[in-house]
Amino acid sequence: MFGERLLRARSSNGLSMKDLANQVGLSANMIKKYEHGDSLPSSDILLKLAKALNLRVEYFFRPVKISLGQIEYRKKANASQKQLQCIKNDVLDQVERWFDLSNQWPVFPVPNFSLPTCVPNLIQSLDEIEQLADNLRQEWQLGFDHITDLIDLLESRGILVVVSNAVADGSVDGLQMHANHKPILVVSGHVSGDRQRFTLAHELAHLLIHGHLAENIDEEKACHRFASAFLLPAIALHQRLGNRRHNIELQELYLLKHEFGISMSACAYRAKELGIINESLHKRIMIKFSKNKWRQQEPGEAYPQEKTTFFRQLVFRALAEEIVSDSKAAELLGISLIELRQVRKLELLNAAFNQ
Ligand SMILES: [Zn+2]
Repeated sequence: MFGERLLRARSSNGLSMKDLANQVGLSANMIKKYEHGDSLPSSDILLKLAKALNLRVEYFFRPVKISLGQIEYRKKANASQKQLQCIKNDVLDQVERWFDLSNQWPVFPVPNFSLPTCVPNLIQSLDEIEQLADNLRQEWQLGFDHITDLIDLLESRGILVVVSNAVADGSVDGLQMHANHKPILVVSGHVSGDRQRFTLAHELAHLLIHGHLAENIDEEKACHRFASAFLLPAIALHQRLGNRRHNIELQELYLLKHEFGISMSACAYRAKELGIINESLHKRIMIKFSKNKWRQQEPGEAYPQEKTTFFRQLVFRALAEEIVSDSKAAELLGISLIELRQVRKLELLNAAFNQ
């Protein structure tokens, strides 16, 4: 168990055996022995390892009992096996923390994910996808405005979201898997907030509609349609832009982006798919985007990355209800006991929480 956890922590920190060995003053061979379970470190080496890997010592002793399923969907196919393994390590860490927390409660206040009742058995057109996005907003009582914290929303519905920093080169945008029957969406921590949100909404769509589509409907297209409709409902876009436009100011797209957390080019595409602007105007806008290299990076301020507080909120709730001890809470939050005590008294507000 120790070896497996050491290997995982080392690889998610992007360190080779030699790197880690140098940091703690050992040989790479010794690290290898630990990882293969041929040897166990003394307690002072254990402390050094934890420090080098930015972990609390308890990390090494949490029982491994989570089984990760296959990666089910993946937006880009050019990630290496090694990169995927790093992501899996991130996922395992966060999933374990999540299960660890839920096991402390007599009745965990977050329900297991269940398919929303608004998902039809058979979806036969993209219009029905559009309808599904509206119905889901209704079923989850979201109204038709901006969704503030998409990650927290998904987690409160029993879907675990992992923001992984393991892959920095943009080769993995998002993916989906299951662990112990819990659906998990993974999103990159290296992309802007609007891209994270679109990826999450797209992956959510896979979770909802896979197996419910008529044969003639392309699942990728359907997931894209769902993502844009869920993030920017037709009713809201019609309110902002009107029903039919012969021209549109770029500033309108910029304002929409920052109101709804969806990219300017996705807003323009959405205006086209809802018939607010015609094909040729959409094309002209996109040519302007290409010329200015805005497809790679949109102009102006980036939409801020998704923040998540739900897990932390649950830990403090458990602490207040005496469901967990302060040392357990500190472990779950990935901070020291001293930091936790300061955080509880609001003397420290920005501890380096691990999620
Ligand atoms: Zn997809």
